Amino acid sequence: MINVTRANLPPLEAYESYLKKIWENRWLTNQGPLVQELESGLRQRLDVPFLQFVTNGTIALQIPLRALDLTGEIITTPFSYVATTTSILWEQLTPVFADIEPETFCIDPLSIEARITDKTSAILATHVYGYPCAVEAIEKIAAKHNLKVIYDGAHAFGVKYKGKSIFHWGDVSTLSFHATKLFHTVEGGAMICHNQELYDKLYLYKAFGHIGDDYYSMGINGKNSEFHAAMGLCNLPEVDRFIEGRKGNDAFYRHLLQGLPIHIPFCPSDTEYNYAYFPVLFESESWVLRVREALLKAGINTRRYFYPSLNQLPYIKGESCPVSESIAAKVLCLPHYQDLSQHEMERIASEIHKVFTL
Ligand SMILES: *Cc1c(COP(=O)(O)O)cnc(C)c1O
Repeated sequence: MINVTRANLPPLEAYESYLKKIWENRWLTNQGPLVQELESGLRQRLDVPFLQFVTNGTIALQIPLRALDLTGEIITTPFSYVATTTSILWEQLTPVFADIEPETFCIDPLSIEARITDKTSAILATHVYGYPCAVEAIEKIAAKHNLKVIYDGAHAFGVKYKGKSIFHWGDVSTLSFHATKLFHTVEGGAMICHNQELYDKLYLYKAFGHIGDDYYSMGINGKNSEFHAAMGLCNLPEVDRFIEGRKGNDAFYRHLLQGLPIHIPFCPSDTEYNYAYFPVLFESESWVLRVREALLKAGINTRRYFYPSLNQLPYIKGESCPVSESIAAKVLCLPHYQDLSQHEMERIASEIHKVFTL
């Protein structure tokens, strides 16, 4: 079976050397030395001064939704993983969907403006596939209407926009380090902000709202463990190799898939991309289903990232978003990871070509 992604496992000895440290320290969780080492490594790699490691990319969204004291309506993207929307719902806020741009698949600033009401308190946008949102336009809108901005950067590890880390933008950016992501800690995530005050508040909220015997506010448990940090410390030095490998695969796929009636998007300009995903757009949903099934029969697993358009989730009544709905129906992500071999990619491409020549 070729899966859509394959989590990197470091050499066992590398992980064991960190386990030895954990056994020596007898410090398993609660901001231990390996968590601190990972956080400092991530700050350096991502070029951001204020970053915290948390249990997953979903809690990384929920904590700032609270810590920024948001109320009422959050304007958000319908083209993302479901956690972007459910984190809003879970915090008892109302997601209001703005449509996306057909080229970048990220939230459309014009649609954001059209959906602002006097109840809007924030924008929660996703750098989907690692493609940067229209950050300058969103910043202007936020300033004009006094809104907070949170970026779900679950796909955007290492992405730079105009030479700077994409995580410089927004009040808070979040990451997921789930096993399926470019950089992983098995389960994990991060919250990034830009000042000490918010950093301290996020820290308090992720650790039950108290420091020692002083109880400041309600909180939750978003702390991650030394074991997860150890996996991160093994994978962090490898990330550049992962990105290089995926970059090569991206180019090879484009070569192999030439001549098919499909559209392969490019990351927008001004961006140093991380090659996190390889999405392909078909002319209609029925082609997606045919290709997906043929590949599955050949032992190749693709994913409909991202379907359904989140405004159409069965448990909410979302605004209509025709661009997102249309793209969600027609997109398929092909297997894409650093160790995917050229031979495997040739097999995948040939199965797709077969579907179109039948
Ligand atoms: C993976 C993902 C999440 C959730 O992260 P977890 O670590 O699995 O909780 C949130 N948003 C997006 C866009 C994702 O892809």
